[in-house]
Amino acid sequence: MSIGLWDSSPPATQRDFEIAIICALTLEADAVTTLFDRRWDSKIYRKAPGDTNSYSTGAIGHHNVVLVHLPNMGKVAAATAAAFLRTSYEGIKLALVVGICGGIPSGRSLRGEMVLGDVVISNEIIQYDFGRQFPYGFVRKTDVQDSLPRPPPAVRTFLAMLQTTHTRDLLQKQTLEYLDVLQQKLGNMAKYPGSSKDWLFNPTYRHKHHPSSGCPECNSGVASICDAALKLSCQELGCNEQELISRVRSKAFSNFPVIHFGLVASGDAVMKSGEDRDKASSRDGVIAFEMEGAGVWETFPSCLVIKGVCDYADSHKNKIFQHFAAATAAATTKSILKYWDPSK
Ligand SMILES: [Zn+2]
Ligand SMILES: [Zn+2]
Repeated sequence: MSIGLWDSSPPATQRDFEIAIICALTLEADAVTTLFDRRWDSKIYRKAPGDTNSYSTGAIGHHNVVLVHLPNMGKVAAATAAAFLRTSYEGIKLALVVGICGGIPSGRSLRGEMVLGDVVISNEIIQYDFGRQFPYGFVRKTDVQDSLPRPPPAVRTFLAMLQTTHTRDLLQKQTLEYLDVLQQKLGNMAKYPGSSKDWLFNPTYRHKHHPSSGCPECNSGVASICDAALKLSCQELGCNEQELISRVRSKAFSNFPVIHFGLVASGDAVMKSGEDRDKASSRDGVIAFEMEGAGVWETFPSCLVIKGVCDYADSHKNKIFQHFAAATAAATTKSILKYWDPSK
C-alpha cells in the first residue's frame, strides 16, 4: 500500500508493508532506521506463531518498511529470518539486504575502480562455497556452488531503470544528500575515515606478523597466521606500506560514493584472500562478497543486495570503514526506494 507523504498514522495491518529490509549487524540497522521518515510502534503488529524475529517498522518516503534484525551474520540466520518474515508479513514485494560487504577493487565494475565506501547493488546473486579453510582462516578454494535464477521481471525492470544514466546520476546526488543527513544525526560514526586509511594491498601480501616480529607461527608457512595476528590491525602488525597498490579515485572524494551494479557472491564464510577474490572476479565477474543475500533469496526471489564496501575481501580486515560503508548503503537504499512503484 502506498502512503501519502503527510500520513501520520501507522498502517492498519502487516499486509500493508511491501518493503522488507534485512540487516545482519546493529550498525547496519542503525544507519537504516536513522533514515526512516516515520517510525511505527512494531508491537501493534502481531507476529505469526513461532516467529522469533525482531522487527522495527516505519516509513521511508511513500513506503511502509519493516526492518528485520538478524541475530548474527550468515546464510542460515538470513534464511531463517526470511522464512519467519514471510509468515508474519505476507504482503512483502521487495526484500532488500542492506549493510556492508567486501568489494573487488578494480576491473569488473562498469563504473571502474571501486574504493571503500562505494555501494554495490546486486543485479544477480551467485551462491559461493568458499570451501575448506586452512586452520588459520585462509580460504583454500573458491568454487561456484549455485547460480541463483535471475530476479523476477518486476525487479529486473526496476534495475534496468536505475541503471539509466539519468537515474544513476540522480541516485548519486540523492545518496550524497541522505549521507549528509546521516552524518549530521550520527556524527563521527558516519564520517568518511579518509583516503589515507583506504589501504589496498598487493593480493599476495598477507596480513600476519611479519618476519621482523619473530612470531614463529606466522613465519612457519605462507598461509600460517597466529590467533593474535588475526585480531590486530594492519597498523599494529606493521603491514608494509610498500605493498600498497596506488589508487586513483580514493584521492578524489568529491565523487563519493559511486554505486556499482553487478554480480554479488553470497557465501557461508568471509572471503579473506586477495588471490581467491581476484580469481572469482576474473572467472565469474563477481564484484562483491557478502553472506546473507542467498539466504534471503530462498524465500524472496525479489531480493536485492545493497551493501557498502568496507574492505577488499582480503586478509587485511579492519573495522575503520564499517560505519561509513553502512551509512552509504543506507543512503543508497533510501534513494532507490523513491523509484520503486508501490502496488495500488
Ligand atoms: Zn603471529
Ligand atoms: Zn594487514
